[in-house]
Amino acid sequence: MRTLVISDIHANLTALEAVLAAAGPIDATWCLGDLVGYGPDPNECIERIRRLPNLQCIMGNHDAAAVDSIEVDAFNPEARKTVLWTKEVLSQGNKDYLLNLPERIDLENFTLVHGSPFRPVWEYLLETRSATLSFEFFETPYCFVGHTHLPVSYLLPDDRLTAQLVVPEPTTSMTLAPRAILNPGSVGQPRDHNPHAAYAILDMAGYTLEWHRVEYNILSVQERMRKENLPERHIARLSSGW
Ligand code: ZN
Repeated sequence: MRTLVISDIHANLTALEAVLAAAGPIDATWCLGDLVGYGPDPNECIERIRRLPNLQCIMGNHDAAAVDSIEVDAFNPEARKTVLWTKEVLSQGNKDYLLNLPERIDLENFTLVHGSPFRPVWEYLLETRSATLSFEFFETPYCFVGHTHLPVSYLLPDDRLTAQLVVPEPTTSMTLAPRAILNPGSVGQPRDHNPHAAYAILDMAGYTLEWHRVEYNILSVQERMRKENLPERHIARLSSGW
């Protein structure tokens, strides 16, 4: 069974389509939130994701803001501008879909959240101290997170008290340690200085996780963003992956 794990699509349909083409046949999809925000294709991304097989999907902070579940003031002015634009263009059906997304899903052996198991929508796991503390807040062996837009794993072997940070190279695979917090990186707005769309494939048979990157037509996304007058900084950062 091959499960596609994606996060932070951020209304970038071109990146999402490139990921789906590169991933090949999949049996299930886990989406860790932020379907919208920053990018030009919020409706198209939600509709594409909703059609993916055996989907489990979490609410991200940008999704919550687009449906008034959290205050738009929590965002910086540029991100806020896109949140307001997104609210304007989203269809009612897609708003209803976002509004009903859960903040956390507990599956057999896996917990899914956007930010962290302690604060599912907002907390950023950026270093080992907060990651180590996070292991107290989920019961399953593994927790998938997104939100930072950085592909990373925090491993907690049986003989250690502190989580170990491992930054995966693209196209590597790892067999899951006894406990781990895993971030596949961002599909639509990577921030690890690699502009290629990030995703992961979980193979349940051997409990292995493969980390992948795929190129996509960034210029076409930037063109659509300019047409909608979205913030120039968010347009420019797609080229550098930062
Ligand atoms: Zn995000």
